[in-house]
Amino acid sequence: MYTLGIDIGSTTSKCAVLRDGGERLAVSLALGGIGTKGPAAALESVLRGAGLSMKDMAVVAATGYGRTRCDAADMEVSELTCHALGAYAAFPQVRTVVDIGGQDAKVISLDGEGRMRGFTMNDKCAAGTGRFLDVMASVLQISLDELGQRAARAKSAAAVSSTCTVFAESEVISLLAGGVDMDELAAGICASVAGRVSALVKRQGVVPAVCMSGGVARNEGVRAALSQALGEPVLVSPDGQLFGAVGAAIYAYRKGK
Ligand code: ADP
Repeated sequence: MYTLGIDIGSTTSKCAVLRDGGERLAVSLALGGIGTKGPAAALESVLRGAGLSMKDMAVVAATGYGRTRCDAADMEVSELTCHALGAYAAFPQVRTVVDIGGQDAKVISLDGEGRMRGFTMNDKCAAGTGRFLDVMASVLQISLDELGQRAARAKSAAAVSSTCTVFAESEVISLLAGGVDMDELAAGICASVAGRVSALVKRQGVVPAVCMSGGVARNEGVRAALSQALGEPVLVSPDGQLFGAVGAAIYAYRKGK
């Protein structure tokens, strides 16, 4: 049985096609989330990658911020459920999933079978989300990849103390003007996101193993700073940004069966 998971986020769109809820036939990621061409592009790309058409899909589940506006889907599933399923499939030992996307951050607790036991989220503020990194990368005029690489190789982190994204932007500009080393600035920016998110994780409870999902999981600087703030190793997978889509495809399989 083929199932399709579609994760329409605030910033990106992701899809996954699985065979029998396990074997991954194709995944895709397109820039642009809800209200853009991103969802159609991700869908087209995953079907091409799998060599299949919509008619071949037994069940299609949509998740993410834009899940209610997905005509292709048979059902909608919460992002929390999908990230829990996707993370558990990648790391069966995981008990705490830290999902940092383009617009919010969520901490999900799992039981030993991968079921969600509770969650805490931040969706009111750009600080502690990918949006904060997007703004800062544009101030520094570097890519998100470079931001993460610079942070990872920095010997120490510049103090970025403003908790508000708008104030932090001014702070980073004045640090730049003062000649602060770019790598240390990148590390300070990543530490700021990690600091906000670690408070969220501590509120929910730091139960190992901890893993990251969402686009910010691609950022080595945030991962390292989060691990330091929590005093726990933080697992990441190259597919962390796709956990929601993979989880939706797993959910679709379970419903279809
Ligand atoms: P959503 O599901 O809300 O659309 P994603 O989980 O796809 O969000 O994450 C998008 C965020 O991922 C962006 O805001 C961006 O900051 C972050 N991101 C993407 N690529 C990288 C990267 N290479 N390094 C760090 N962060 C990244």
